Amino acid sequence: MTALFSNYKRADIEFVQAQGNNLIDSQGKRYLDFSTGIGVTNLGFHPQVQAALEKQVNAIWHTPNLYQNSLQEAVAQKLIGDYDYLAFFCNSGAEANEAAIKIARKASGKQEIIAFKNSFHGRTFGSMSATGQDKIKEGFGDAVPHFHYAEFNNLASVKKLVSDQTAAVMLELVQGESGVLPADEDFITDLAALCHKAGIFLIVDEVQTGMGRTGKLYAFEHYGIVPDIVTLAKGLANGLPAGAMLGKSALAPAFSYGSHGSTFGGNKLAMAASSAVLDMMTSSGFLDQAWENGNYLQDQLKKALADNPKVTQIRGLGYMIGIETTADLGQLVKAARDRGLIVLTAGTNVIRLLPPLTLSKAEIDQGVTILADIFTEQG
Ligand code: PLP
Repeated sequence: MTALFSNYKRADIEFVQAQGNNLIDSQGKRYLDFSTGIGVTNLGFHPQVQAALEKQVNAIWHTPNLYQNSLQEAVAQKLIGDYDYLAFFCNSGAEANEAAIKIARKASGKQEIIAFKNSFHGRTFGSMSATGQDKIKEGFGDAVPHFHYAEFNNLASVKKLVSDQTAAVMLELVQGESGVLPADEDFITDLAALCHKAGIFLIVDEVQTGMGRTGKLYAFEHYGIVPDIVTLAKGLANGLPAGAMLGKSALAPAFSYGSHGSTFGGNKLAMAASSAVLDMMTSSGFLDQAWENGNYLQDQLKKALADNPKVTQIRGLGYMIGIETTADLGQLVKAARDRGLIVLTAGTNVIRLLPPLTLSKAEIDQGVTILADIFTEQG
């Protein structure tokens, strides 16, 4: 008998220890982790993050947002770099998207938001309403009004929904949960131009694509655009709950004193982890290496699975990779786990890989060998 709601389907194993890019279960079995807890422990269980956490836990682990917080300032500066952004900290991706929706509505004085079919933005009312998938909303009554859904990678479908009441366009640059579907470059360039011309805020949800996942700190850097609003979570604190909304500094009046807040947002422990994460990610060559290794993994998979009749496409950006297949996803995930590799699924027909950015070439090869074996068995 469980004392928990059954809103998750849990495999019958528990991880009790981690070492670098490996997880160890309660039976002592070791697994190579190509899932990073769904895109969270992007640096694996790295000693540099652990040391930062240990140092902070020995000092102080929470203060309210009624006092100065130099860790938040430091993390914000590292996230912003040379961009003209200000930061708001929260605890999750859904909350970061709530903040984005709120600031866009308040700053524009308009309510309509164009989101996309098959998108995923979270489970709170606002972020769920932004999500373009009916199954996520079923049974919960009326969604937040004024969200409209365009076709991903289809500018004409966006144009049809634009009105003088449009506050923002909101999207993922690689739709993660629905199948690792990257946006086309032309679509994003044209969409950003359209938003700019019409005075519509462009909100990019980088909850999954951000924090080095695609080989850049932000996926928008691949597309040569600078969104008005960016949301982050997952890899931000490498496993501590943290989210952030970055918005252009011109939006500051919309988030003035008393307008929005969070008790735990920017918590000292989460910020200590985040600061260590950003120091590593922004160190010379780190992200270039992640980009190179992500491409190496994709290439090796393409070679190893080229002749497999049940693999229909391999796609992705950097270390965010989808293997589209006609084989049974549940069986593939289990077969990988039996051989000591943890992978994810996305949508109805994709094996999703979100490995640590710190994988060695040997670990990549080890993962590819296991994936080739399990697909051969299914093929
Ligand atoms: N946005 C995107 C793109 C996501 O992938 C997710 C989670 O998978 C979320 C938002 C929601 O994040 P959280 O579960 O931290 O609320």
